[in-house]
Amino acid sequence: MSNKTTPVIQQYLSIKEQYKDAILFYRMGDFYEMFFEDAKLASKLLEITLTSRNKKDDVPIPMCGVPVRAVQGYIARLIQQGYKAAICEQTEDAAAAKGIVKREVVRVITPGMIIENEFLDEKSNNYIFSIATQKGRGDVSVMGFSYLDISTGTFRVSESEDSDAVIDEMLRVSPKEILLPESLKNPSYSQAAMKDLLASVSEKAVTFLEDRFFDHTRGRERLLDQFKTLSLEGFGCEHLKAAVSAAGALIYYVGETQKQKIEHLTGIETYVLGDYLLIDDLSCRNLELVKNLRTGTKQGTLLGTIDRTVTAMGGRLLFRWLRYPLMNVKKILARLDAVEEAKENLQAARTIRENLKTVYDLERIGSKIAMGYANARDLIALKRSLNMLPKIASLLSQFKSGLFKWNKETEFFEKIGFLADLIEKAIREDAPPTIHEGGIIKTGYNSELDELITISKDGKGWLAQLEVREKKATGINTLRVRYNKVFGYYIEIPRSRANDVPPHYVRKQTLVNAERYITDELKTFESKVLNAEDRRGALEYELFDEIRKEIVKNNPEIQAAARFVARLDCLLNLSEIAEQNNYVRPEINTQGHIFIEHGRHPVIEKMITGERFVPNTVRLDDSENQILIITGPNMAGKSTILRQVAILSLMAQMGSFVPAGKASVSVMDRIFTRVGALDNLSQGQSTFMVEMQETANILNNATSKSLVIIDEIGRGTSTYDGLSIAWAVAEYLHDLRAKGVKTLFATHYHELTELAMTKSRVKNYNIAVKEWNDEIIFLRKLVEGGTNRSYGIQVARLAGIPDKVIQRAKKILFDIETGEHGDDVSYTAPMVPSPEGKDQCRERPVQLELFGSPGHFLTDELQNLDISTMTPLDALNYLNELQERTKKLGIEN
Ligand code: ADP
Ligand code: MG
Repeated sequence: MSNKTTPVIQQYLSIKEQYKDAILFYRMGDFYEMFFEDAKLASKLLEITLTSRNKKDDVPIPMCGVPVRAVQGYIARLIQQGYKAAICEQTEDAAAAKGIVKREVVRVITPGMIIENEFLDEKSNNYIFSIATQKGRGDVSVMGFSYLDISTGTFRVSESEDSDAVIDEMLRVSPKEILLPESLKNPSYSQAAMKDLLASVSEKAVTFLEDRFFDHTRGRERLLDQFKTLSLEGFGCEHLKAAVSAAGALIYYVGETQKQKIEHLTGIETYVLGDYLLIDDLSCRNLELVKNLRTGTKQGTLLGTIDRTVTAMGGRLLFRWLRYPLMNVKKILARLDAVEEAKENLQAARTIRENLKTVYDLERIGSKIAMGYANARDLIALKRSLNMLPKIASLLSQFKSGLFKWNKETEFFEKIGFLADLIEKAIREDAPPTIHEGGIIKTGYNSELDELITISKDGKGWLAQLEVREKKATGINTLRVRYNKVFGYYIEIPRSRANDVPPHYVRKQTLVNAERYITDELKTFESKVLNAEDRRGALEYELFDEIRKEIVKNNPEIQAAARFVARLDCLLNLSEIAEQNNYVRPEINTQGHIFIEHGRHPVIEKMITGERFVPNTVRLDDSENQILIITGPNMAGKSTILRQVAILSLMAQMGSFVPAGKASVSVMDRIFTRVGALDNLSQGQSTFMVEMQETANILNNATSKSLVIIDEIGRGTSTYDGLSIAWAVAEYLHDLRAKGVKTLFATHYHELTELAMTKSRVKNYNIAVKEWNDEIIFLRKLVEGGTNRSYGIQVARLAGIPDKVIQRAKKILFDIETGEHGDDVSYTAPMVPSPEGKDQCRERPVQLELFGSPGHFLTDELQNLDISTMTPLDALNYLNELQERTKKLGIEN
């Protein structure tokens, strides 16, 4: 008989057929087994032994397995690597089954569909993101998108005609899994945007669903069914067809993977992309907002510096505030008001923070309870958290800011109080982690349960009595009544007294020193007690489930409490870090100014050792100070000041105080950054191409309300190319939509400082250094005016370049600057050390004074000119041509 036809394998294959893209965990007794390709893959991913089923057969079936007890850890590892696990259980009692045991997939765990805390990072959301396209007005394709964190119930939706914006948004949301219509697998004709999209998600877990699951009408019905409403009007997305299609597909997928109603998903939040300051993914990385470029962790990032939230919910919300800074001035001011008030009442605020520390992750506990994955300990955690809320509310009553006020206070607290009381009355503090074996419900909660407990308890007394009675009757003083799992209750008597045992004792087991007996009386007693205990376990589970349902009914209140706590935690966090780090309240102006007096970089000021951070003052406006060209030697602090301005603007828009003496900022719509390719070489991208793509993005998308940070441009190509591009880019930004855009432009091309002479809103700054004994001292001060020296050699010395090389470099530089380069100097392409790249060299021409001494670039041509063959007219024409060419290059003399 071939393997494939054994009933188990047949059943396996028919189930596997429905879960092709998941690894099927097929329950067999105490193990989950995997077969065929799944087994090969899983054994590799999980580092477990690959064996085979029916080894003797010609074609053995590859197989591997994990014990049921340990399955969580294995699933977690698969999910982290982007795989899915379909959990197939035995759905009938193996002993009662006729033939093969029935099995069913009860749940599919995917990277974007996780409930268990063990798999989740407490301070970040775990999102699944779905995208759908619809034909909109005038045949424009509209892209709808929606994302969901099933562990918290967070569910959002929006749409846009701009596919790039949707891709940006997806990167910002940073989902763990992406849901797409199958037809996008091979995007056709006009779907260039889709190709970009697919390329940008290629490293993530992508799940394709048949297109029909993205159908608008069906999707809308699914949402109405889920939310139990008659329209989506109340959620603000009734009219957004593409958005609803995307959200509808998510609900379908939730059903397919969870195999149950998700009661905690009671609504969806519609939002508009343009309502938030957009910091694209690249800028987010460049500014190191949430992830350290080198280590990939939160340390050394803005989030790492300003996140002192004390609850998981607060931590997740702060992350969101940071990635979605506000543009609505009123809302920004409301947050700032609250932060300020808390800072002024620091003691009260700190007391509240202390209390918040004991509030558990209400969002995730609520979801876990709703989905039936919670145990009694979760309920206890919920109770403790709910009990904290009235106390926190009363501490808050002295605060006036709107954001510190609970809505619908009394009704809300009645419900919360009711739930806490219910749990208090019913659930034992010392409950075990399992929910099927009793020990969960307190005595006094349910009379039937109390009776059952009495029976088991009384049983113990009865046994003691029995022992006394039997000792007397038999005269055997060493007689004991005992219990073990194999035999149940028994009477034990030392071997030496075996002859004194009465005839109604039935011998069960003989040990070296003892004999064990049972009696009818003992058996009857045993079944009564054991029945009571069985029944007790079942009844406790029923009671637990009733309480669970009661909690689920009030889940909207729990979620509301969670939202409030999260916001409170964030606001108090911002006031605490403002206090600790000496931040000030920024003003929000409407004149388009960014004025930062004595500003500091919040992360670097914490990280530098030895040196003190030098504050700097920066003014940007739309008149004289729109484009600041910042020069200065390497290591002077150019990059730092650029990022500082971007980060401070962002902090202000999230409602935070800022590290400065004084600050006034206007609301930005986007922050763009373009950071020197050398600065993120670690990412292994082809430098110049990436640099130009990033620049193109800025030039095509910046508006007069954006803030642009350009930190070195053109370094990936030759000096002349680079300078020309940098020059043209700066000009373009100055003239953008006839208004220009606020730009900080750090560059090592000193020539760019000449722009200030022709472009009215350009201003030159440099970061001052002091020369001292042929060394440089970094002053870190931004001052007006350009520089004309790069101090590259001095910086090279600081980096530890051998003195011999330094001396030689100085000689070459001197010769070039004085135009006295002799035969021994070749300046076309010597290997020069790159100061940032520490230990790497790359080919780069020595930087020439392009506009300072035009002589040498004409030399070759003039030397090769054969004057003897020229007519006077030729000569005149040639002279004219030379003049035109030099003019084009902008050479004046
Ligand atoms: P550049 O971009 O000009 O090469 P960076 O901005 O990368 O220079 O700064 C180099 C180093 O100088 C930073 O890592 C930091 O340690 C230090 N630094 C920069 N700005 C300041 C400042 N204002 N105060 C103190 N140290 C600073
Ligand atoms: Mg730099």
